[in-house]
Amino acid sequence: MRIVFLDFDGVLIPMDGTTISRKPAPSCIAVLNAITEQTGAQIVISSSWRHTGSIDELRAMLRGWGVRATVIGKTPAIHSVDVTRGQEIAAWLKANRDGVECFAILDDDSEMRPLSAYHVRTEKKLGLIKADADRAIELLTLPVAV
Ligand SMILES: [Mg+2]
Repeated sequence: MRIVFLDFDGVLIPMDGTTISRKPAPSCIAVLNAITEQTGAQIVISSSWRHTGSIDELRAMLRGWGVRATVIGKTPAIHSVDVTRGQEIAAWLKANRDGVECFAILDDDSEMRPLSAYHVRTEKKLGLIKADADRAIELLTLPVAV
């Protein structure tokens, strides 16, 4: 199983700093679909949007945005003051380690310890672009030791 850990804001939803539209850009969705179609990757939601609804609701929302890959879950919420998103993703990987062949983390955050090597950092004003897809596809087609 190949996994894309998916952030929404700054990845699917470009954030220009003045207006927060909270609407995904069709071009970003198209790049995500290209990544998952080329690699067969499935999606695990790591965005803070995961706290806003059940997995079924999130799945329906992504489907409505035009996301075509299967959404298989979301990362756990670890309630600790200094927990990072990277640690939450690591926790998901630890719980699912047998099934995961390789993965990429799509996120505009600067910090993704302890998984920085798998982080494809998007430019938050642009969201996901073709250059990010090239890097993501590279990660998703190389086996890694989790
Ligand atoms: Mg973000």
